[in-house]
Amino acid sequence: MLSFAQRGEKVAPSSTLAITAKINAMLAEGIDIVKFGAGEPDFDTPDYIKDAAIAAIHDGFTKYTPAAGTPQLKAAIIEKFKKDNGLTYKPSQIIVSCGAKHSIYNILQAICNPGDEVIFAAPYWVSYPEIVTLADGSPVVIETSAAQNFCMTPEQIEKAITNNTKAIIINSPSNPTGTIYDTDTLRQIAEIAVKHRSYVISDEIYESLLYDNLKHQSIASFSDEIQEITFVVNGVSKAYSMTGWRIGYTAGPEKAISAMSRIQSHSTSNPTSIAQKAAHAAISGSQSAVDEMRQAFEERRDVISQRFDEIEGITYVKPQGAFYIFPDFSAHYGRTIHGKTIHGSMDMAAYLLEDAKVGVVPGNGFGADKHLRFSFAASLEDINRGLDRIKDGLGR
Ligand SMILES: *Cc1c(COP(=O)(O)O)cnc(C)c1O
Repeated sequence: MLSFAQRGEKVAPSSTLAITAKINAMLAEGIDIVKFGAGEPDFDTPDYIKDAAIAAIHDGFTKYTPAAGTPQLKAAIIEKFKKDNGLTYKPSQIIVSCGAKHSIYNILQAICNPGDEVIFAAPYWVSYPEIVTLADGSPVVIETSAAQNFCMTPEQIEKAITNNTKAIIINSPSNPTGTIYDTDTLRQIAEIAVKHRSYVISDEIYESLLYDNLKHQSIASFSDEIQEITFVVNGVSKAYSMTGWRIGYTAGPEKAISAMSRIQSHSTSNPTSIAQKAAHAAISGSQSAVDEMRQAFEERRDVISQRFDEIEGITYVKPQGAFYIFPDFSAHYGRTIHGKTIHGSMDMAAYLLEDAKVGVVPGNGFGADKHLRFSFAASLEDINRGLDRIKDGLGR
């Protein structure tokens, strides 16, 4: 029978696809669009990292490696966890995958049975519900508001937990909101997870992009008990501007990491040998390039926040990390501009694109239709040009 598996049918098509296609069509027509859609840093990968990859190619480091990653890279990752997070791991507790998205995918494949519930906040990263669904799990989405910094409260989690709860996903700093969990909340969530025997998946991919002198804290670091049930996910994509290299990693309970390694060994096998060498250079080298990028993002965050202050009817939570701001545009919903009524984030994004020539991502794909996601992985000049256009457009 020439039919497809239900698996593919269960997964929603990307909500950003339509708008991205439209942006590209307009760009192809030569229309000048200011783009705030990027989900990746706009900097080049630093030279010391590229050089390590080139050396790997010349040295013939171009064959299979152990499926879960090279001992060299795992050792650098262990060192990183010790130095940055105060966490101690054995090599058998580390697996390197083809990007942090692949890490999260493998975790859920390894722990979820049909009907297992996985708790996370809305607004959420677009892939969480789909990755849970692909693993036959059930997403349990907790609605959060600007007033709570878009963070789940311990009370909300406590209420959402059932006998079927398998894991709680924490993403701090968050994509799409840029907000972070404070230490006290994280500690309480850790206690709840330990009490109810629920895994925690801590997506810390934006760890190094924090502002206002804030310091990152991993939920796994509060006690041995929480470390034993937490998967810490990180990677090189966002910190080192290496999205195309596809290296992410997980630290977690030994048996679960072993299950993930088996799954990975029969699907992708090892992440690219050359990219592993590059990631090793990135993680074990001087971190000054990271701090330069972080400072540039902080300046852009300040400018874009200030520019939103000038626009009537828009509220936002000032991001404390990552490179996104997630303003609430709903005060402008219901308006009819040029004969078209704006009903939600898709309409607003379409209006801003067609009228103001600004490309943004509608919030509905993140489970938050009042909002639009702006990436400030863009030049200060573009940020100013784009916000001028939005101010003009909405002022009409
Ligand atoms: C970008 C991103 C990832 C995954 O990045 P990879 O390129 O797959 O390493 C994971 N989580 C969040 C929240 C992200 O924004």
